[in-house]
Amino acid sequence: MRTIRRKSMLYKTGVEYGDYTMNHVQGCSHGCTYPCYAYLMAKRFGRVTTYEEWCCPLLVENTLDLLECEIPRLRHKIKSVQLCFTTDPFMYGYDEVCKMSIEAIRMLNANEIPCTVLTKGLLPERLTELSDKNSYGITLVSLDEGYRRIAEPGAAPCAERLRSLEELHAAGCSTWVSMEPYPTPNVHEQRLSELLEAVAFVDRIVFGRANYNRAVSSYPDAKAWYNNRVFEVTKFCEEHGIGLHVKKGTWTEGVASVA
Ligand code: SF4
Repeated sequence: MRTIRRKSMLYKTGVEYGDYTMNHVQGCSHGCTYPCYAYLMAKRFGRVTTYEEWCCPLLVENTLDLLECEIPRLRHKIKSVQLCFTTDPFMYGYDEVCKMSIEAIRMLNANEIPCTVLTKGLLPERLTELSDKNSYGITLVSLDEGYRRIAEPGAAPCAERLRSLEELHAAGCSTWVSMEPYPTPNVHEQRLSELLEAVAFVDRIVFGRANYNRAVSSYPDAKAWYNNRVFEVTKFCEEHGIGLHVKKGTWTEGVASVA
């Protein structure tokens, strides 16, 4: 795997449910076609020129050195660190990335900093050895492998992803699911209830609409349709004692819902 060096690693994120974050890889082999916001930004700011280049990840080789310098300076300000917002910490098929992610989490935990993980790869069993204050999540917007191959071509198969999360839950870890970007029926027809039942064991769900996608914005009554999905996920979470965060822009005030 090719590498790059960076000058800094930990930074405060503007993402609504995040505190600090780290992104120790440039690019992502999962190559999501929703599209991926991180790819759009990397292209806009000239860090990559093509989709193919984005899908060939570069590991930041001095990640652990940077953490060693930055943690003492920032540890009193940081409530938690999310891995990652602009890449994937357990990139499917990239052992070097997974290994470095575990080392980084271990280093942060040793300084009393809990981590929140989000992946479309597989969560390794070794995570059960780390701090019980960590929270481990997968993105899961569908159970359909056909849709996964189109929308998340390089990511882990949905069933394997889910199994790795269930294993961590069974071992007593805190787990969560990001259902974002949830597709409208003209992008992919499915029942939200089936997806919710499959993840009913998690502690928290983050639900969000799809953005930057012409098909979604052209879906008739998209706002009302998303309002209905928010009703559905809220009811499910209340009934199952699951924490819920609905991403900004998913619920639209004053719009009548439709089935
Ligand atoms: S997994 Fe995340 S960072 Fe990687 S391509 Fe998909 S959306 Fe982008």
